[in-house]
Amino acid sequence: MKRSRYVVKVKSEENHILYNIRTGRGLKYSKSIKVWDHPSLQSYLVKNKFLIQDNEREDEEVLENYKMKRMQNRTLHLIILPHENCNFRCVYCYEKFERNKMLPEVEQGLKKYIAQELASGRYKHFTVSWFGGEPLLGIDVMERLSAFIIQQCEKYDVHYSAGITTNGYLITKKNLEKLDKMKVYNYQVTIDGVKEVHDQQRIQKDGSGTYDTILKNLITMKNSNKKFRVLLRMNVSPDNYQEVEAHIKKMEDTFEKDSRFELYFHNIGHWGGENDDHVEICKENMMVKLLQQSSQKKIPTMSAKALIKPDNVCYAADPKSFVIGTDGTVYKCTVALYDERNQVGQLTEAGNINLDQSKFALWVDQGIADKRCGSCYLAPSCHGDSCPLIRMQTGSQPCPDFKNDMSKLVEILDIQGHRFDEVKLKQEVTSDA
Ligand code: SF4
Ligand code: SF4
Repeated sequence: MKRSRYVVKVKSEENHILYNIRTGRGLKYSKSIKVWDHPSLQSYLVKNKFLIQDNEREDEEVLENYKMKRMQNRTLHLIILPHENCNFRCVYCYEKFERNKMLPEVEQGLKKYIAQELASGRYKHFTVSWFGGEPLLGIDVMERLSAFIIQQCEKYDVHYSAGITTNGYLITKKNLEKLDKMKVYNYQVTIDGVKEVHDQQRIQKDGSGTYDTILKNLITMKNSNKKFRVLLRMNVSPDNYQEVEAHIKKMEDTFEKDSRFELYFHNIGHWGGENDDHVEICKENMMVKLLQQSSQKKIPTMSAKALIKPDNVCYAADPKSFVIGTDGTVYKCTVALYDERNQVGQLTEAGNINLDQSKFALWVDQGIADKRCGSCYLAPSCHGDSCPLIRMQTGSQPCPDFKNDMSKLVEILDIQGHRFDEVKLKQEVTSDA
């Protein structure tokens, strides 16, 4: 027997943790236990793939399982852009704002497409991510489509879930009610630090600040008894890094550890577009560092599991995921909207998606074909598909920027109170001793 290459080991003063990237399971145990040699643990370690046979080709199994899961995937995912314009002009934004609200014929075509897909019986789950521009500028489109989708999902017994990426400016009390009716329970809202810093980066068309209104709206959400989860994203750059601590404190005071609000940090990147030349980016990856800091303070933060779980690939690599533009253009990625390779098809008024198969293949086939990814210890999570766009742009593996921070991420999981397999095994060990 040998140890799987996908196992990460973390040592602390009292305990050790083994985390298996392939299965997403972790084992926490006292450092006095020699876990690899302990007879009562052997079957657990083998069953959960911590230990494998000497001749086992786990890389091949991982690849085959991934291919199989993709084939058997019964979730349809649509990222719908109800509006492609925005009330903001953030300094790092890559969008051109050339289009506005979704055209009525596209809305009709989309309804027909959804009805046909759900009627096919191929899906158990349907997930919609509302995106833009600013999606809430097209809230009437969202309402009509949501009512239709909810009714269709009920008809065909398909589980429905929805989320929204919004700048937060239009989440008024009235819109919150509407969103609740639309079953939109997952939000991502960006606050780029304290007011002075945020208001330099996330500005309205006329250049004025947006912080006060966003915060007021989030407090309205907090004071409601609705069920939702808000990921409060902070884009970190050298310009706002100094203010991160003050921002975390402000979020802590405002949301008082309400677990519906989670902090999340993202390094600002060069995401394409004319703003790239004057956007500075951090040399160090701040995401892991800040996730650790806020988790240590017991502030609700995005779970580290979201980063290191099995099959954590980009939606653009998922053959059952499409982005639907306001003019019916079908994309795979929400970032490269102006890259022709990303304009993979067209939705017709009759409800069909005419796909350009060769462009489509660029997004979904390259990770599994990359032999170099096969031998990587992160393959069961990334599969070479963490960002097909980077792969296309650079011609090399799009390794996630936390690839070398796996031990730290497992430590953060522990700090966040993740339940590892431990009690049951401790009992086994105790009774065995
Ligand atoms: S392909 Fe890359 S840039 Fe596009 S959505 Fe996926 S992760 Fe983002
Ligand atoms: S892209 Fe990088 S991290 Fe992902 S599987 Fe390939 S080599 Fe590993």
